[in-house]
Amino acid sequence: MQVAVTIAAAREAALRAGKAGLRVGLVPTMGALHPGHVALIEESRRLTDFTAVSIFVNPTQFGPGEDYDRYPRALAEDLRACEAAGADLVFHPSAEEMYPRGTAAATFVEVPALSRVFEGAIRPTHFRGVATVVLALFEILRPDVAVFGQKDFQQQALLRRMTADLHLATTIVTHPIVREPDGLAMSSRNVYLTPEQRRAALSLHQGLEAARLAVVAGEADADRVRRILRAPIESQKEATLDYAEVVDAETLGKLDHIETGRSAVALVAARFGTTRLIDNVRLTE
Ligand code: AMP
Repeated sequence: MQVAVTIAAAREAALRAGKAGLRVGLVPTMGALHPGHVALIEESRRLTDFTAVSIFVNPTQFGPGEDYDRYPRALAEDLRACEAAGADLVFHPSAEEMYPRGTAAATFVEVPALSRVFEGAIRPTHFRGVATVVLALFEILRPDVAVFGQKDFQQQALLRRMTADLHLATTIVTHPIVREPDGLAMSSRNVYLTPEQRRAALSLHQGLEAARLAVVAGEADADRVRRILRAPIESQKEATLDYAEVVDAETLGKLDHIETGRSAVALVAARFGTTRLIDNVRLTE
C-alpha cells in the first residue's frame, strides 16, 4: 500500500493504475476509521481493481465553533486499518496541500438544491466544503467509482446531484449504514459520548426502526410516521432533536404520503450534549 501526502504523488499513482487498465475506486474519509469505513473500502475492492482511500479532515466543511480542531485524528491506526482492508493507496494531504492559497477566498462548488435543508440549514457552509473537496479529489484521482456511506444520506444525495449536473465520469455508490451490535450507527463522533448520552443516542435507531416497521405494516401517512419516529428521541432528556423527517430520497422534499414506487427515507439529527449525531433509514426499497 502506497501512502501519498502530495497531490502530485497521489495523481501519479492513480494515473498509473488507470493506464495499467485497472478500474480505480475512491473512498473519501476524514479518518478515525471504524468498521463503517472499512466496509466502504471492501465495497470499493469488490467493484474495482485499485482502491484509494483519502484521509483528510477538510477544514472548509466545518463551520466556526464546530469541532475541526478536536475532530479525532488517528493516522497510525488508520493506515493499519487501510492496509488490513486491502487499500492500494492512501492519500493523506495537509490542509496547505489542498488549499495552497488558503480557505478564505477559495473556489467553491455549490449544490443549492440540496445544501440548504436539514444538515445545511444547521451548518450553512458545510456542503459547499464537502462538494468542493470531493470534486478536487475526483480531479486528482480520477476514480471510476467513489463509495460513500448511507449514514450521511444528504451528503450522498448531494454528491450524486453534483456528479450528474457537472457530467462527471465517476459513478457514485452508496453503501448501507454499518451499526454497532445494539443498533447505534457507527460514527467517528461516537467517542465524544458519555455513557448516559451513548444510551440515549440509541433512541435514534429505535425511532427509525419503529418508523420503518410502521410503514412495512401499511402506515402511509407521513405525519403519523414522523410522530412514531420522534417519540423515542423526545422521551430522552439527554437528547435535543434537531429534525426528524420523512422525505423523498432523491429531492429530500417533505412527503405527505408514503407511496409504492416513490423512494422515501426518514432522516434524524439530534444533539447529545455538544455531540450531534445523524441517522436515517429507507422506508421503501
Ligand atoms: P467521515 O470520515 O465521517 O467523513 O465518513 C467517510 C465516509 O464513511 C462517508 O461516506 C460516510 O458516509 C461513511 N460512513 C461513516 N460512518 C458510516 C457508517 N456507520 N456506515 C457506513 N458508512 C459510514
